[in-house]
Amino acid sequence: MRNTVQREEILSFLRSKRAHYNAVQVYDAVREKIPNISLGTVYRNLGKLIECGDIISVETEDICVYYDGFIKPHAHFVCRCCSEIYDFEISDDNFEDIESLGFKVENTRTVYYGICNKCIK
Ligand SMILES: [Zn+2]
Ligand SMILES: [Zn+2]
Repeated sequence: MRNTVQREEILSFLRSKRAHYNAVQVYDAVREKIPNISLGTVYRNLGKLIECGDIISVETEDICVYYDGFIKPHAHFVCRCCSEIYDFEISDDNFEDIESLGFKVENTRTVYYGICNKCIK
């Protein structure tokens, strides 16, 4: 029972804003509502949420993992200067091309790495 409450709190936090958070940021936010939650519990629940397809993860070049409550297929751009993660729309054409060959696309993970338009100035 408790686990469900914790997991729902984590999920509702990640869905509340169109942003990407690492586990410690999720932990800090959820702790305001559930003061006795542990970082280990947060990690475990994030793993479960990914398993269930409720959230997705993005890895930065230095292998920091960020969590995203927005699960409609989209591409990410990770800036190596400010570490900001940007969302970009991706077209369905790619999926359609693949599916026209009889494949069933269930997931996609496109991450671009580079310098964002703010840092490049
Ligand atoms: Zn940047
Ligand atoms: Zn995203």
